[in-house]
Amino acid sequence: MLVNAYRHTQTPDEPNYAADAGFGGWEALETLQRLTRAGVETIVDAACGIPLPRASVPVHSNADMMARRKRLLGSRPYLFYDRPIHAVRGEGVWIIDSSGRRFLDCYNNVPIVGHCHPHVTEAISRQSRTLNTNTRYLGEQVLDYAERLGQKTGAALTACAFVNSGSEANDVAWRIATAWTGARGALTQEFAYHGITEAIDAVSPSASRIGALAAHVRTLLAPDGYRGIYRGDTPDPGSRYAEDADRAIQSLAEAGLKPAAYFVDSAFMTNGILEPQKNYVAEVFRRVRAAGGLCIADEVQSGFGRMGRHFYGYQHHDVVPDIITIGKPAGNGHPVGVVITRPEILDHFIEQSAFFSTFGGNNVSCAAGLAVLDVLENEDLLANATAIGAYFKAGLQALAAKHDIIGIVRGTGLALGVELVIDRNSRAPAAKQTSQLINRLRDEGVLAGSEGIHGNIVKLRPPLVFRREHVDQAVLAFERSLSAL
Ligand code: PMP
Repeated sequence: MLVNAYRHTQTPDEPNYAADAGFGGWEALETLQRLTRAGVETIVDAACGIPLPRASVPVHSNADMMARRKRLLGSRPYLFYDRPIHAVRGEGVWIIDSSGRRFLDCYNNVPIVGHCHPHVTEAISRQSRTLNTNTRYLGEQVLDYAERLGQKTGAALTACAFVNSGSEANDVAWRIATAWTGARGALTQEFAYHGITEAIDAVSPSASRIGALAAHVRTLLAPDGYRGIYRGDTPDPGSRYAEDADRAIQSLAEAGLKPAAYFVDSAFMTNGILEPQKNYVAEVFRRVRAAGGLCIADEVQSGFGRMGRHFYGYQHHDVVPDIITIGKPAGNGHPVGVVITRPEILDHFIEQSAFFSTFGGNNVSCAAGLAVLDVLENEDLLANATAIGAYFKAGLQALAAKHDIIGIVRGTGLALGVELVIDRNSRAPAAKQTSQLINRLRDEGVLAGSEGIHGNIVKLRPPLVFRREHVDQAVLAFERSLSAL
């Protein structure tokens, strides 16, 4: 348009398309401006009859998508990063955006065996071509899957109820616990997260924007040896923190309630990826059981080898829960949720309630779940999470020696947290800097998130197929981003 306008000034006989509204040139330019590069390529390819290599290539800019999103998904966008990422493809440890840029995924714990692992995608695709129906027909997959999940508990937890998400698994676990105990009181950690149903939202104080607890819920102090009331200098802080369960149980009793269940996220993820003393969880379990409650290990974050060494996170605490719930990584992105408990506890529940979930335990979900277990075993990913997690942690700790803003590096396996403080003595949380750091990391091509009640903990949960070179890239990006803060 500009070239033509210029030429028109030199040779007035040449038609001036730029001034010709009927020609539609400006509209065309404005449309092009709204499209992404990949979108333009797609349209040109299609016009030339070139077959499209990708099924759904984005054709709209982020600004356009944000506007649509606000209109269609609610006015409060809940997105990662100041400059949101338009993710179009995943591959191993990488997320690829609409411009073709690759981001190293240190954040998403769902694709535990790597984005789009071919063994899992093949299993899903094969099963979806064969049969996908529900558990009211006999089928091998659901049995094989239940058997393998139960075996990994190393305990008498062998009975499974299949659902579709972590929230549903916790909701059913809560119903099972109230049915078994006849009690109505709930215990959960302060600032915990367990899901979105009404019953589970009540035990998820971190999700509340209003801060009020339901009348039947009591929270336990987070066993935070860095920021909590019992720190490294307190003798036996695990027992001190566990004593808080007595206070919570007593408080329920004063309201005429007994505990039905205590929910614990074995990785203490929302509390900032804590590493409580070894005796903490066991001592809380002892108290909850003495008061008649069941202990529910929410393994939605901590399961599937996330913490290295063991398949389930609770195994790091030397306890055996009464109920386990799993979700997120179970299907590597395909919706899978499972409640695992002792057979007598499940039987008691299903005698009272005809439990059935249409999609829970469907053939395709089970094929996905079985394929994830195959990959974890065949690629020895628990051992990898242990070794690479230790290497990652050491790299971050080396950064802490150079950057005072790092208060502490915590975590086990590939569930790591880096707590940022304004001052190492006061430990004042550096929330603003955490947000800046995460956005800088994103610009460096490394995806991380923030966590904790103050939002000052960088959360790292990469796929378990992470290798040393990925850690090196992430640590280098951290170094550069910290230096630029
Ligand atoms: N429990 C924990 C510990 C979680 O982190 C989450 C999800 N963030 C859930 C339960 C809920 O899982 P979902 O979003 O699949 O319902």
